[in-house]
Amino acid sequence: MLKITLSTTLKDSSFNEIYNFAKKASFDGLDYDMGLSDFYKNTKLTEEQKKFVVCLHEPRLMFFFESDFFLRKTLKKALELTNTKNPVLNFHLFNFRKPIFLNGLNLIEKINKWGEKNNVIISFESGTTNMASLVNKEGTNPEAFANFCIKNDLNMTMDTSHLGTFDINIIDFFNQYHKRIKLIHLSDYKNGNQHLPLFTGNLPIKKLLKLIKKLNWNGTIAFEIFKFETIDKNEKFKILENNLKEIRKMLK
Ligand SMILES: [Zn+2]
Repeated sequence: MLKITLSTTLKDSSFNEIYNFAKKASFDGLDYDMGLSDFYKNTKLTEEQKKFVVCLHEPRLMFFFESDFFLRKTLKKALELTNTKNPVLNFHLFNFRKPIFLNGLNLIEKINKWGEKNNVIISFESGTTNMASLVNKEGTNPEAFANFCIKNDLNMTMDTSHLGTFDINIIDFFNQYHKRIKLIHLSDYKNGNQHLPLFTGNLPIKKLLKLIKKLNWNGTIAFEIFKFETIDKNEKFKILENNLKEIRKMLK
C-alpha cells in the first residue's frame, strides 16, 4: 500500500516535535534522516517511535562514504532506528567517489546483500546540477543515473526537486522508471529553489499524483519539504499538514 511519510529534515524542530506532529497530522510514518549526531549521541527511539519510522536516509556526508567502517555503522544504526516491516533505506549515489565503478560497486553490492538479509529495501538517489562537476555522473545526471540503476539492478529514489535542477520532466521520468522507483522524495521546485512546499513551484505535482494513481504505484512518498518562506515552526507544520490533505484527496 502506498505510504505518505514525512522527512525528519526540519532542522529547527526536534525529532520528538516532528514525530508528534506527523502522528497528529496522520502521516503514515517518518523518513528518518540520519546524521553524524546519531552516531556520537547514540540516538535512542521508543518502540512506538521505531514503529513509525518506515524509511531512513543515509547520513549526508559527501565523499566520506566509501569506508567500510562508516558503512557498517550506518547499517547497524538504521536497524536500531526502526522496527517496521521492509523499511526503505535511501543512499545518495553521489556519495560514492568517482569513478563509481572502482570501489563503489563493491560497496553497493554489499549494501544490497545486507538489505536482502535484513529485509530492508535499499534505494539509490541522484543529486543536483550544482554537484555535477564534483561527483560521479551516475550519481547526478538523471539519464546516467537511470541507466546505471538498470544495468546494476538497483532500486531508484526519485527526488522531484533534484530532477527539477536538470529540467527533467518528472512525468516522463516516472512513466519510464516507475517499476524500479521505490521511493519518491516529494517537493516542489522553482528557479533553482529546491524542496519547496507542494504547489508553490513549477513542477507538475498534480499530474504526477494522477499518474501514481493510474499506475497503481504502491511505493513510499516522503515529503522532503524544508524550504519555507516563514520561519515560524507552527506555520511550517500547517503547510505540511495542508499539503498532506491535498495530495491524499488527489490520490483517492
Ligand atoms: Zn532527496
